[in-house]
Amino acid sequence: MARKRYGRAWTFIRKTYAAEHPFCEVCLSEGRYTPTEAVHHIKPLSQGGTHDISNLKAVCKACHARIHGEIGDRWSRKVKDYASDR
Ligand SMILES: [Zn+2]
Ligand SMILES: [Zn+2]
Repeated sequence: MARKRYGRAWTFIRKTYAAEHPFCEVCLSEGRYTPTEAVHHIKPLSQGGTHDISNLKAVCKACHARIHGEIGDRWSRKVKDYASDR
């Protein structure tokens, strides 16, 4: 499956961001330390979001799935393979 928007630059940004945010930011705000498993775009690229760190959020798989489930977008079915793509 081609995902042109996620190129080399994104892979680098994601790894750097995850290294700087080793714990899920959502869990952290609730006092839990869960290792970061994915980097989420707060504003989806499809809605004009960017890879800027102000638009990123380190999340664990559970929180990532919940975020996408809550906003009910069509990404939710892609979350699994996106999250495991480390
Ligand atoms: Zn979490
Ligand atoms: Zn996401």
